[in-house]
Amino acid sequence: MSITPITAQDTLQKFIFDNAAVRGELIDISATWREVLSRHEYPTPVKKLLGQMTAAAALLSANLKFNGSIIMQIHGDGPVSLLVVECDADLRLRATAKLAPGAAVADDATLTTLLNATGKGRFVITLDPADKVPGQQPYQGIVPLDGDDVATVIENYMLRSEQLDTKLWLAADDNVSRGLLLQKLPYHGGKAEATPLSEEDALETWNRAVILGSTLKEQELLETGIDVLMQRLFWEETIRVFDPHHPQFHCSCTREKVGNMLKMLGREEVEGVVAELGTVAVNCDFCGQHYEYDKVDVAQLFTSDAPVETLIPAGEVKH
Ligand SMILES: [Zn+2]
Repeated sequence: MSITPITAQDTLQKFIFDNAAVRGELIDISATWREVLSRHEYPTPVKKLLGQMTAAAALLSANLKFNGSIIMQIHGDGPVSLLVVECDADLRLRATAKLAPGAAVADDATLTTLLNATGKGRFVITLDPADKVPGQQPYQGIVPLDGDDVATVIENYMLRSEQLDTKLWLAADDNVSRGLLLQKLPYHGGKAEATPLSEEDALETWNRAVILGSTLKEQELLETGIDVLMQRLFWEETIRVFDPHHPQFHCSCTREKVGNMLKMLGREEVEGVVAELGTVAVNCDFCGQHYEYDKVDVAQLFTSDAPVETLIPAGEVKH
């Protein structure tokens, strides 16, 4: 057992080194993470990876300059077939993992043994705008799994795909999910700042920040609140701290979206299930919400072009 202080509200704290060479974020999404875990039972190594990925998705999302969701996925070729985390523009998060049928997960399993056993693992980042124009596709980046931990995979992705020097420190267990992100800001000749900074000085600030971040050990991150970490790591630096954000758990599943998914399966298939079992039952992979469609519901789904929500009055969702 760790001696982790349990905080009621999750916090994401953005900061910037005063000479604007480096920006950073510290995050504690332990409450959100416990919401995720209250809906699922995962082996310990899977919890660790998914918890770290959840923190990372919020850290990256907070730096995005667009209104929409970031969906981070690792498609695995080993005992774990999928890890997925979604974070919207309001820092509302959901996460889930899918294990291969009959998968055995050793206590000392690593990202590589779980998700990249034959080198076919893939890391996928999708940026899904909230207000898509008709026909607009989400942006998607897909790369091989390059690294044996979540932080390294994302650092390599950010450098190769986004040309951004990014360093991440992530830690998660049964109770806690926390992280630190440092990112080197593009150099603009120091003109925009009150104190012009030479390129060498900007680079030196970045290197110093990374050295400070690298003193942070995983166990320390699990056991220490982010306010204390901020002081402990950067007390000698001049840092500007912004108003905190408060990430939270939220699942965006609705009866309408599940209905649309059934429509995509096709009438024949869905009616076949109803004929056999009486109803079609779907559980949300993220939050566990149970959706059920009987013969009448299914007939309505396939006989009308109207949105499903107008057919099913709110409150009629069966549990
Ligand atoms: Zn859900």
